[in-house]
Formats: sequence, structure tokens, C-alpha cells
Amino acid sequence: MTEHGTTPRSLEELLAHALAMENEAAERYGELADQMTVHHNGEVAEFFGRMAGLERQHAGEIAARAEGLGLPRIAPWDYRWPSAESPEAVAIEDVRYLMSPQRALRIAIEHEQRAAAFYKDVAALALRADVRELAARLAQEEQGHTHLLEQWLARFPPETERPEDPDPPNTPE
Ligand code: ZN
Repeated sequence: MTEHGTTPRSLEELLAHALAMENEAAERYGELADQMTVHHNGEVAEFFGRMAGLERQHAGEIAARAEGLGLPRIAPWDYRWPSAESPEAVAIEDVRYLMSPQRALRIAIEHEQRAAAFYKDVAALALRADVRELAARLAQEEQGHTHLLEQWLARFPPETERPEDPDPPNTPE
């Protein structure tokens, strides 16, 4: 039975969740980078590449911390995410239909905030002190990621909606 909305109860369980979340986030940032390359936005592609690197580094640190602990094997449907998907991974349909760097950055910010919120909930609700401590640290790191993304978003002019031109020039009759 799935128990969405409940939090990891042990250090091992938290580490297993964190590892899955960071790996998925790294993967999606890699996809965002590719997508931005396709849209000829090399600058933002490079930035998302860096975010992928950060998340991979995060995953590596968590893996190192988990060494020797024997993490539980968790079936995909048994993760204790607040919703069906891991909170930090940018939804695949959002990646596909990205329109602009601003939109990409805003979506990324939203997911970093969800990741931070997930860890904060664990930090607030876990019964064990070691789980609370690690969760609080991870929440802080995700907030750091959010700030990085916000700094990047601030470099772009506010996005203006560009509706389809109803009367495009050079349309043959
Ligand atoms: Zn992150």
C-alpha cells in the first residue's frame, strides 16, 4: 500500500528518498539543458548543465553518507512523496513544452522549492533526531539551489506574452 504524505521514518529511509530525488533531479536538469540547446539558448543550456552537476554532486554526497548503512530497496510506488512524483524532478511534459528560458527557470525554481518543502516537512515531523538533522541540512541545500535559480531568472527581462500574430505578413492569399 502506498502511503503518500507520510515521511521517511529512519535515516536509511530518508537517504534512500534523497538519493532517488537527487538522481531524478539531475536527470531532468540534463534534459532541460538539451532542450535549451535545441532552442538555441546556449547560455541557459549551460546553466541547466551546471544544475545537473550540482544535483549529481548532491546525489554523490548522499551516496557517500549512505555507505555501509544498507539502504532499503523501495519500489517506485512505495516512496513517501507528498504526491505521485518525486518533488524535485521537473515534470517531463513541462520539459517538452518549454517555451522560454524564463519559463524553464520558473519551473525549476518551483521544483527546488518543492524539494526544500519535502525535506522541511521531514525535519519537522520525523521522530528521530538524526533524521530531523539530515533533513534540515538537505532543506537548506535545496534553498541554496532556489536562490541560484532566482539570481539567474533576475538576469532576464520579464516575459511578455506573445500571442500568435493574427495577421502575419507575407501570407500568400
Ligand atoms: Zn536541488
